Amino acid sequence: MTIKEKPKEYSHIEELVVEGKHAIAIQLINKFKEKGEYNLRDYLLYNLLECEILFQQGLWEDMFKLAEETYKESLELGDDFIAIDALFEMAEALIWLGEPIKYEHIIKQGNDLLKIKNQKHSLEYKQREAKLFYIEGFFCAWIKNDADQAMKNLEQSITLFESLKDKVGLTKSLLISSFVFGTLKGEADNAIKLTERSLALSEECNSKYLVGFSLLMMGVNYAFFKGDYDHSIKFFEQGLIKFKELNNKYNIAVTFSYIGSVYMSKGDLGKALEYAELGLALAKEVNNKLRIAENFVILASIYSFKGEIDSCIRFYEQSLKIFKDIDSKVGMATVFNNLAGVNRIIGDVERALECIESSIKLNNEIGNSWAVANNYDYLIQILIDKGDVSRAQKEIEKLEQLKNQINNEQINLLYLFDKALVLKISSRIRDRGKAEEILKQIIEDERVEYGITVEVLFNLCELLLTELSMTNELKVLEEINSYTAQLLDIAEKSNSFILFAEIYFLKAKLALLTLDVKNARRFLTQAQKIAERFTLNQLAAKIKLEHNNLREQLSMWEKIKKTDISLAERIKLTGVDTQMKQILRESTIISTQITKEKIKVHRERKVCLVCKGEILGYTYICQCDAVYCQNCAQALTDLENVCWVCNAPIDTSKPTKPYKEEKMEETDTTKYKFKK
Ligand SMILES: [Zn+2]
Ligand SMILES: [Zn+2]
Repeated sequence: MTIKEKPKEYSHIEELVVEGKHAIAIQLINKFKEKGEYNLRDYLLYNLLECEILFQQGLWEDMFKLAEETYKESLELGDDFIAIDALFEMAEALIWLGEPIKYEHIIKQGNDLLKIKNQKHSLEYKQREAKLFYIEGFFCAWIKNDADQAMKNLEQSITLFESLKDKVGLTKSLLISSFVFGTLKGEADNAIKLTERSLALSEECNSKYLVGFSLLMMGVNYAFFKGDYDHSIKFFEQGLIKFKELNNKYNIAVTFSYIGSVYMSKGDLGKALEYAELGLALAKEVNNKLRIAENFVILASIYSFKGEIDSCIRFYEQSLKIFKDIDSKVGMATVFNNLAGVNRIIGDVERALECIESSIKLNNEIGNSWAVANNYDYLIQILIDKGDVSRAQKEIEKLEQLKNQINNEQINLLYLFDKALVLKISSRIRDRGKAEEILKQIIEDERVEYGITVEVLFNLCELLLTELSMTNELKVLEEINSYTAQLLDIAEKSNSFILFAEIYFLKAKLALLTLDVKNARRFLTQAQKIAERFTLNQLAAKIKLEHNNLREQLSMWEKIKKTDISLAERIKLTGVDTQMKQILRESTIISTQITKEKIKVHRERKVCLVCKGEILGYTYICQCDAVYCQNCAQALTDLENVCWVCNAPIDTSKPTKPYKEEKMEETDTTKYKFKK
């Protein structure tokens, strides 16, 4: 076994490249090339090192061009191993560039060339074999999202890299494996173990790029599989330092997008927007279409949470255009699905239907039956909005077939939920009873995801509201209140501000049903403060208007107290039924904010009693230990100047202004008689 000599300086420069000391490495390479005393083989070896530098900088187009040049010249030289190396560099660049067809062509060339080398036991052969398995694994994971195929290749590459003691190769394979376990298989613990091992190894090889990439993956794992946002942001920030040192704008853009998504999940929409825009600007600078499209998707979601649906739709349409351009079916399928959801919110049922049908078609082509099952959930709800009951029933049957094929707990629950929704709109009381029974059965199931629980609870509230208007039974209202209490508990644990604001808004209207004006105003104040705190500007404006209306109608509500107007009439008067229907349309967006991971890491935090925001800076602590932020303490002082828990004055220098109703009996709602 003979290994051809490498130039004297080569291993030193290679070390510099691995460490990310690009400027010195390039200086030395140029000095070598300028001397002119080299042979072609040495020249090409240095080209390959330069490819590695371009890789670490995320400049894949340049990397591809240089590798292609190197490949052509290696043919002149007749050195197969250098030709294979150059082809592999080209293939790796093509994966990052998202060019599957060109990739398949190039990798086949490399593979064929390697197979005719009859030196299976040589070190040089094994090095290329390991690299080939790594690239194929990377391709299956990144482009095809095929976890099993990816792991088959990656496991072989890991064994080979280990036997070759190639730590850089090993770290790369482990990182892609952690992506497979985390993103493709949802096995968080395995993903984290692999990333931790990669981080340790990349520190051992002192590779700036690999340390940065490991930190990026750590951030992804902690954010999206553990729900530990604060930890994840720390990892992202450390990774950013490395990518900035390497001047890798692509990975800086990726990190910014991830940080934006994390702030979105945390509920800090202002910061989320800031990072998503930074990510978009950089993606445009490096001219990477996939990244631009993905940033549009993030921006669209942020605007959907803000309730600014027009902007949201605009960003989705822009991303869709790019996904079509680069023929990304996964991207198109996701965007069509989300577009169906937002069009449903604004009541454009036809467009919603069109979008969900496109998404189903694409997901069927990709062969992602899990996504198709989730599509059906939207489809059935859209058909219900449209009033097309007979088609909704037909689609339920299709979902049932799909459910039997997939045999997964969450899909089974989704099927039950949709079945209940169809029964719920039936005019027959017996069907509605059955719907209620199924919905109750779902929330008692411990396996159910919190997102579904939220949607189920809202639907139960709506069912009971209809029952309330038919029966006039106050007991039904108590039951509704027990469900809103459960929703508040989920909002608290998942720190979901949209859910908080929507429930307090709803509770204000429910309070009015029993003519409890005092609590109605308190709930409105609270809903408004939450919406303001989390920059849900449109919702805040809507609530403010509602509060103003209520203030003007106080005398009307006083008069109503003296009449025995029925609950059905009160429901109409408060508009609680229309609000409930709007919440149901929005519930699919609200529920995406609530995940098992978020609830798992729920910690007791010091939050303001009113706006639920974390308290930074000035705090007002009442004698009863109730805590208010400065903004809310001020709002309460202006409103009634009493603590909501103990009724003690907040500002002792000012008089308290309890609501008029407080002086009257109320609280005991049973005192009111209702007309049947
Ligand atoms: Zn507050
Ligand atoms: Zn108090």
